[in-house]
Amino acid sequence: MSRHQADLVLCLKQPGTTVGSLCEKCDGRCPVCDSYVRPTEQVRICDECAFGQDKHRCVICGGKGVSPAYYCFECVRTEKNRDGCPRITTLGSTRMDHYYEKRK
Ligand SMILES: [Zn+2]
Ligand SMILES: [Zn+2]
Ligand SMILES: [Zn+2]
Repeated sequence: MSRHQADLVLCLKQPGTTVGSLCEKCDGRCPVCDSYVRPTEQVRICDECAFGQDKHRCVICGGKGVSPAYYCFECVRTEKNRDGCPRITTLGSTRMDHYYEKRK
């Protein structure tokens, strides 16, 4: 169930009204635990992640989003869907920003 890269960080900001997308490759996958079993509740991303072109991107890999993302049954049951925006923020330059914020 664990992700292959240890340094992946989820956004976890307060979700807005924008539905997260998944690309063809990640379609049907839960953005929290990578499960393909029983997609249950539509994923909502925060306003920051929904800004501009980003809302059309896959929340998992940043690829071209083609279909809505869903939390799996297990993540809804354990309320992981309430943790906040599940978009991975280690894509691009945001990771360094987070790093410096923590060091201050
Ligand atoms: Zn899940
Ligand atoms: Zn976000
Ligand atoms: Zn993807």
